[in-house]
Amino acid sequence: MSVQVQIESLVKQYGALRALDGLSFSVDAGEWIALMGPSGSGKTTLVNILGGLDTPTSGRVLVDHLEVSRLSESELVRYRAEKVGFVFQQFHLVPYLTAVENVMLAQYFHSVTDEPQAGEALRRVGLGDRLAHLPAQLSGGEQQRVAIARALINQPRIILADEPTGNLDEANEKIVMEIFRELHSAGHTILMVTHDSLIAREADRRVELAHGRLQQISAVSAEDQMRFDHLLEQIWICGEEGTTASVERIRTPGSVDPVKTLARLVDLKLVELHGRDVQLTDLGSHRARDVIRRHRLAERLFRDTFAISDSEAHTQACEFEHIISPELDERICSFLGHPTSCPHGNPIPPGACCSGKSGPK
Ligand code: ADP
Ligand code: MG
Repeated sequence: MSVQVQIESLVKQYGALRALDGLSFSVDAGEWIALMGPSGSGKTTLVNILGGLDTPTSGRVLVDHLEVSRLSESELVRYRAEKVGFVFQQFHLVPYLTAVENVMLAQYFHSVTDEPQAGEALRRVGLGDRLAHLPAQLSGGEQQRVAIARALINQPRIILADEPTGNLDEANEKIVMEIFRELHSAGHTILMVTHDSLIAREADRRVELAHGRLQQISAVSAEDQMRFDHLLEQIWICGEEGTTASVERIRTPGSVDPVKTLARLVDLKLVELHGRDVQLTDLGSHRARDVIRRHRLAERLFRDTFAISDSEAHTQACEFEHIISPELDERICSFLGHPTSCPHGNPIPPGACCSGKSGPK
């Protein structure tokens, strides 16, 4: 894979505030990055600088070896027209132009207008029968699809999307996500700001910002994440049973090599190997505890509330533990009255929501 976007010691200063504070990371061509982090952590600032809509205070951004932060105004116009496509949370459609005219407006900035091509772009996002509609005659989801068609009209290699599903209902979110999946398979590089951990799981990597700095990069597919969680759980359970986890005791499904998987956990600083003994680091412990908590809460939910059989509850919990987000985990925990043990009597590690509450045994 070749590096397409390189972000080096990027700083953006607004008065006394550092929206970006020495941020560095790179993105491979064709990679899908989920950009995450709390509100105000600098995500939009970063996207705007990458897209040449804003300039950094210091540091640089290289896109295909071109230093974006040094381009002149006219070079920037060309850069924006040729390299990047923007999808925003607000759709920014021109209200008195039809869908097809809105797409053609983007073509105009690329110095060509080609109505059949604009129509084709709308057909690709499922709006072939809405070409002559004004934005006000379209639903939010349809407007967002027009905005995507417009962003893609020039086949940009890099797609910058700032919370593209933030204003959409579930059905339209599905359609828009399907479009992004297709763009990803077609080889486009995607940087997508999202708060939704389910959406972020679809990306190749999650880059998390906090106060304009890199909080965490997880370079791991959703499938690998699940494997890692599964291993961390085993190590955690050994600890509960008062034994030490060893390389020999670790089980991985089917053809997955446990030694290799452990090596990746070591790289991610989640576990340490001492000879044949496997130990969780603080980071690993934290994560294992969260997974165990979600698994056992899910078992309680399925067994007690939905009266699902024991083995089925276990299977469901194995799936569910990866899907529950911290917010949902707290809601389930509160709903169940902050239980302290799973249906098999194993302890449920308390969460932030449990402090000061003594749940039923
Ligand atoms: P995010 O998209 O992660 O919510 P932003 O990149 O929009 O965060 O903002 C990062 C920080 O920079 C915030 O504290 C925000 O208030 C500040 N900020 C953003 N744009 C400006 C601006 N034009 N002038 C002053 N402060 C700004
Ligand atoms: Mg933002």
